[in-house]
Amino acid sequence: MGTIKCIGILTSGGDAPGMNAAIRAVTRCAIYNGLQVKGIYRGYKGLLTGEIKEFKSQNVSNIIQQGGTILKTARCKEFTTPEGRQIAYDNMKKEGIDALVVIGGDGSLTGARIFAQEFDVPCIGLPGTIDNDLYGTDTTIGYDTALNTILDAVDKIRDTATSHERLFFVEVMGRDAGFLALNGAIAAGAEAAIIPEISTEVDQLEELIKNGFRKSKNSSIVLVAESPITGGAMHYAERVKNEYPDYDVRVTILGHLQRGGSPTAHDRILASRLGAAAIDAIMEGQRNVMIGIDHDQVVYVPFTKAIKKDKPINRELVNVLKELSI
Ligand code: ADP
Repeated sequence: MGTIKCIGILTSGGDAPGMNAAIRAVTRCAIYNGLQVKGIYRGYKGLLTGEIKEFKSQNVSNIIQQGGTILKTARCKEFTTPEGRQIAYDNMKKEGIDALVVIGGDGSLTGARIFAQEFDVPCIGLPGTIDNDLYGTDTTIGYDTALNTILDAVDKIRDTATSHERLFFVEVMGRDAGFLALNGAIAAGAEAAIIPEISTEVDQLEELIKNGFRKSKNSSIVLVAESPITGGAMHYAERVKNEYPDYDVRVTILGHLQRGGSPTAHDRILASRLGAAAIDAIMEGQRNVMIGIDHDQVVYVPFTKAIKKDKPINRELVNVLKELSI
């Protein structure tokens, strides 16, 4: 492997608050260590189309507090084909980029793993997703901000739920992971969370009703993870309407507002630490790993592990929610 002089950075897949803080950290830390930095626009698409620009320190000024990503993000079908990846590699070489830092979720890191293997290119991944579904890191960039956004929304829904004595199913994002729903429910003082990790084990609605749901309260809020495994909030609302017609049921789908907003202090610090660690990893000769923070320590997680291993939910949290919602 030759010496690395220039790194390329891109954000890909679903956007997450804190991606800008990560771009800033990677750029500044690279420059601090004498590396050249090139920003690649619109994820892997920019590698294919050559939308690439040199980044100096001032290109990342005043962005730490901004949601979204200044590099834009996209989904790129061509990159999933060997022909597409060949074009990406040729453009990368043409630009003099020796290593890539990819900020994104499960899909983006899968792309990085395949690309790294195919062309022997050093790729470092940063976990950027509100879903928190990457193995090997306590949290992912954007997760804490999304959780706080959910909290803010559910607090407001609580006011109307209480006034009208209604049962609300609030659908939150998370793909096939229940972290946002479960922790959102605990933080918001909701009555329950319906999450994909448990959907296959029990009928969660039956369990809610059996456990004296609405026994001591005149309103209830249940957070539902959007996953096809749970069926989403509408599915549960329909079931309640059919099976328990006495309940006054409403549904709120929080949707894309969960992806926006200024990142929390937690996400800014996480993104800054991960970004700096990505450059440390490159300087140390690491390749094809995702950088994570595990028990407050920086760790290098092989792509295969970060992507393939299911990140388990903490069962203790499930019990906490159950005990606190009596
Ligand atoms: P996320 O990174 O948020 O999980 P996606 O799953 O949409 O988002 O993936 C983002 C991009 O990563 C895709 O549009 C594609 O360019 C790339 N990608 C995903 N899966 C693969 C794959 N199996 N092979 C190559 N590239 C992939």
